[in-house]
Amino acid sequence: MREEFKLLVALQDLDIMIKEAEEKKTSDQLKDMGFQLDGLEELRKARAKLAGKIPTALRNRYEKLAGHYSMAIIPVTENRCLGCFVKLPTSFFSSAYSSELITCENCGRLLFIP
Ligand SMILES: [Zn+2]
Repeated sequence: MREEFKLLVALQDLDIMIKEAEEKKTSDQLKDMGFQLDGLEELRKARAKLAGKIPTALRNRYEKLAGHYSMAIIPVTENRCLGCFVKLPTSFFSSAYSSELITCENCGRLLFIP
């Protein structure tokens, strides 16, 4: 997998964790479990650091998609986009391995082949 994709997937994981930590119900649960809330600040710092390593154009594309979908970058599974479950055409796969950035033609999410 391309290094940029790995970074994007890691960024998305952090975004999901931050989102969960921000939700009150979750943070109350975390408090009950004995976690400190400044963990959220640590997550945000880690996110900023990681985001700085991703090429701007790619990051902007991710950020835009992340505004629409909870998962902006997803793995291709059984020849389908896991976001919208559309079957991807064979031609997609022949170009996917050489392409810099793969996008689902149906939903626009970023795709990677795991
Ligand atoms: Zn899709």
